Amino acid sequence: MKKIQMVDLGGQYQDIKEQVNASISQIMETSAFVNGPEVHAFQKELEDYLGVKHVIPCANGTDALQIAMMGLGLKPGDEVITADFTFAATVEVIALLQLTPVLVDVDMDTFNINVDAVKNAITPKTKAIVPVHLFGQCANMDAILELAKEHNLFVIEDNAQAIGAQYLSKTGEKYMAGSMGHVGATSFFPSKNLGCYGDGGAIFTNDDALAHTIRGIVNHGMYERYHHDVVGVNSRLDSIQAAVLRAKLPRLDAYCEARRTAARKYSEALKDQKHVIVPVTVNDCEDICDTCDCHVFHQYTLRITNGKRDGLVKYLNENDIPCGVYYPIPLHRQKAYLDDRYNEADFPVTNQLVQEVISLPMHTELDDEQIAFITDKVIEFVNA
Ligand SMILES: *Cc1c(COP(=O)(O)O)cnc(C)c1O
Repeated sequence: MKKIQMVDLGGQYQDIKEQVNASISQIMETSAFVNGPEVHAFQKELEDYLGVKHVIPCANGTDALQIAMMGLGLKPGDEVITADFTFAATVEVIALLQLTPVLVDVDMDTFNINVDAVKNAITPKTKAIVPVHLFGQCANMDAILELAKEHNLFVIEDNAQAIGAQYLSKTGEKYMAGSMGHVGATSFFPSKNLGCYGDGGAIFTNDDALAHTIRGIVNHGMYERYHHDVVGVNSRLDSIQAAVLRAKLPRLDAYCEARRTAARKYSEALKDQKHVIVPVTVNDCEDICDTCDCHVFHQYTLRITNGKRDGLVKYLNENDIPCGVYYPIPLHRQKAYLDDRYNEADFPVTNQLVQEVISLPMHTELDDEQIAFITDKVIEFVNA
């Protein structure tokens, strides 16, 4: 059996090696390292893929979120509602901009932000909601967009984990993740579903004026050379990363399908286990997404309900099976984000999830033998 990896970037590289190496050599020859033709071409290709009017590439996903919030003109003291159960980058940028993060609980089945909790958290100071499409599946965007409209709030989609996912709206229409709010942000960190070979990120919007504002912000607040109209940042995607992303983008749907296939096999093997809850997909689709693209499985995350999660992590590691706990501590209990406003009783779901979740290896190169080995070990341990 091939050695099992949490993420297998090497295997994936073999497939695109010639194209990537040729593009990188070309960049070395032309010295167009920053803002070169590769970056512009990638920007256009991603706009087409997502069906959005504007993609603004930047240096990483955290910057993308920060710049989106700067572009919307959010001011210190404005309240921004986001999920308690996510990667820290989401709340970090809110705090950095001296906005007030308002963390709320999530749903037990999807791990995504709970709409009733969002509703209860809205105050006259609320300016934006940041739904995170966690682990590759969209948050409940119908309800979030409705709430936002009613209360005149911005919606900033944190799409770092769900690029390529689709959302089936109750109108029957399908939308690409990241294209539904006022602005979307994503990351091209190597381990993400569309990853480059360093850091990278992008911001998406259909709003021409906002796109213009953001293009200035990423470039030191310059709209005309050496005229600095607003305080900006320096956040660029480099040409080498763009070349890698251009090789991968045409394969993204196939990558997502490979992840879904692995997820289906995992769930098939584990779905009837008493102490294991397999991931739930909310769109109206067959089983685990046989027929649609609603979940792109950035992570394949189980809940272990008999208190043996930590033991299982250890057992899998002893058997050379890497795994992860995303996330082990709720953000409202992280030292950096402690606040008297928070009440433990408001986070029952997150507080439970941090004790139950475990993510199994998930990437495009998993084979049947590996999946069978992994699921056998899970079953063996949770029932012992
Ligand atoms: C990875 C990630 C980010 C940050 O992306 P970077 O490119 O690492 O800065 C933000 N939000 C979520 C949910 C992520 O998973």
